Amino acid sequence: MQYLSTRGDATPRRFCDILLEGLAPDGGLYLPVHYPQVTASELQRLRRVHASQGYAALAFEILSLYIDDIPAADLKAICEKTYTAQAFGTAAIVPLKPLEPGLWLEALSNGPTLAFKDMAMQLLGHLFEYELARRGETLNILGATSGDTGSAAEYAMRGKQGIRVFMLSPHGRMSAFQQAQMFSLQDANIHNIAIEGVFDDCQDIVKAVSNDLEFKRKYRIGTVNSINWARLLAQVVYYFAGYFSATRSNDERVDFTVPSGNFGNVCAGHVARMMGLPIERLVVATNENDVLDEFFRTGIYRVRASSDTHETSSPSMDISKASNFERFVFDLLGRDGAATRALFDDALRQHGRFDLSGDAAFRQARERYGFESGKSTHADRLATIRAVHAERGVTIDPHTADAVKVAREHRQAGVPMVALETALPIKFAVTIEEALGHPPERPAAFEGIEQLPRRVRVLPADVAQVKRLMTEECQ
Ligand SMILES: *Cc1c(COP(=O)(O)O)cnc(C)c1O
Repeated sequence: MQYLSTRGDATPRRFCDILLEGLAPDGGLYLPVHYPQVTASELQRLRRVHASQGYAALAFEILSLYIDDIPAADLKAICEKTYTAQAFGTAAIVPLKPLEPGLWLEALSNGPTLAFKDMAMQLLGHLFEYELARRGETLNILGATSGDTGSAAEYAMRGKQGIRVFMLSPHGRMSAFQQAQMFSLQDANIHNIAIEGVFDDCQDIVKAVSNDLEFKRKYRIGTVNSINWARLLAQVVYYFAGYFSATRSNDERVDFTVPSGNFGNVCAGHVARMMGLPIERLVVATNENDVLDEFFRTGIYRVRASSDTHETSSPSMDISKASNFERFVFDLLGRDGAATRALFDDALRQHGRFDLSGDAAFRQARERYGFESGKSTHADRLATIRAVHAERGVTIDPHTADAVKVAREHRQAGVPMVALETALPIKFAVTIEEALGHPPERPAAFEGIEQLPRRVRVLPADVAQVKRLMTEECQ
């Protein structure tokens, strides 16, 4: 399988060539040159593999369709090391939980950091370690986080050979639980840097360091952000698993509702659907930051300024620009790299928006690609958390509540709906307490983590000081 860029660069690249990369050199995102088609008999075989051998075996089958430059035995071993009951809490890895007849939650948040990002990041940790060892190289991962991504990356990379992580977070602004999760890690290769500033300051420092090409090359700086193709690919697997668990036969179709920020999670659903998985509709759920809902309703994609991005109680969906959206638009435009560039490079840069409302392609978003959307507000989250708790005795986190609210609005008779659970409630205790009047349950493994010794350095929002710290640690 070879990979191309959404902006037209068709230099042939294989999986391991793009594994450690961010954007393509032309500024686009990587996609496979085609989506492997899963035939009816192949789908039947995958259903049996999942039922008899479990999630890791299914992951190996799906990944093998996209990765032909890692020997099969090695890839299989990586999948088996990654998707264990020990790391993900159950043998099923992503069990379905019934919410009401025909509506399920797919539990994606029982990994080490209690958010769905572990599903991809844990695999990435093993793939990076494998590929770096094969090349005899090392990598220094530099990232900025407002919570979930940073901790998922650190737990995936801790103790891995050849990898260091430098993670910037806004000093004092993450939830107490998220701070404790990250700062209690004692691994020598993990470096927490709390920046005296907001998330945007952290992001700006990462950009400034990465734009210093000499420094970047000398210190082998890489990232693990959500545009990484391997992360997206890892997420395709749980759409297959969710489909098999929600149905008895491959004649049935299923709807998914996905709480969305950077469009990574639901883009993986799009890839699964393009491969032939019988997904009827992909429903995008946003919070008050409704860039994506606006697009799917109107055909207008209008990125927001940071100052126009609301701070909400589902903070991991507070985005002003959905970094993976370009992948879907590339498909929507018939995989025309020049047309994609005209929208994302020219129009967005000059006008901060583009308008496909008059374009025949826009109608296809719904008719051919199955996309729909909805929006959920703080009041909706509270009401949904309360209702699910009262009806089912189950506490859901605020992001999952956005999905459940929108999923209920989009139910179709006779079509099972699977809403993706993206975090456990303990990560967002303040909102749960606001909704229910009491704090969420805490998994036993996380008792007292706020009291553990912390490993974090506080720095001013200053590029030079961050670089100096990195230089010292890389000696
Ligand atoms: C990252 C995240 C999301 C959004 O996922 P995208 O792939 O960015 O669309 C939703 N919920 C939680 C809890 C997250 O951590």
